[in-house]
Amino acid sequence: MRKKIVAGNWKMNKNLAETGNLLGELKGRVDQIDNVEVIVAPTFTNLYYSFEQLRETTITVAAQNMHQAANGAFTGEISADMLKSIGVETVILGHSERRAHFGETDAILKEKVVTAIQKEMTVIFCFGEELNDRKSDKHFDLVASQLKNALFDLDKSAWSQIILAYEPVWAIGTGETASPKQAQEMHAFIRKTIAKAFDQQIADQVSILYGGSVKPANAKEIFAKQDVDGGLIGGAALDAESFEAIVRAI
Ligand code: PEP
Repeated sequence: MRKKIVAGNWKMNKNLAETGNLLGELKGRVDQIDNVEVIVAPTFTNLYYSFEQLRETTITVAAQNMHQAANGAFTGEISADMLKSIGVETVILGHSERRAHFGETDAILKEKVVTAIQKEMTVIFCFGEELNDRKSDKHFDLVASQLKNALFDLDKSAWSQIILAYEPVWAIGTGETASPKQAQEMHAFIRKTIAKAFDQQIADQVSILYGGSVKPANAKEIFAKQDVDGGLIGGAALDAESFEAIVRAI
């Protein structure tokens, strides 16, 4: 059985006090929920605090990014070992905002994924097409190439540490969502692509999350689709009530 997962990407939001408030609310709302793994990704400065606050809960803390190098002269960057030393073993890689604003290419992401896997971390790997790709009917090719470029040199054994997050860029933070049918169609394509490149068992086991303006109002319909195993949530993860409603929509 594939794992159902709902992950909240807090992006560059919430100072320490606000983080404490949201974590406090989440502890009362989304701890110990059966059949779904809940993940939150606060900003770097609040990661250790968040880990400590959630230590006794079933909620996992993830980082939003990490550097591919083990250590060294990379001012402002954070390594896998640093994350692991504070208890954080899950990392989001490849978010479209990292690709668009910080120049993260497929080649860089491949290095990041390899480092994270070597360090025995779990990777939430994000990818997805832009509006132009979809309008020109290139969205399947684009998604296949993002997966191939970053992930297809991995050993089969690495896939137990990978969670995929399909996030059409045109749906992120825009209020526009892929229809449940569009999401299912792409998730099924992703699974088929992985089965071809690796094997059916890996394809059947990997959780594929949908991300892009998921809200309490649309979560149930999207999560009901056969190949959608949960969501990566941005804006709606910043409010405990909305996030709980999305978690409970699984
Ligand atoms: C995201 O940033 O991963 C995301 C899906 O954002 P939103 O839910 O706000 O569209």
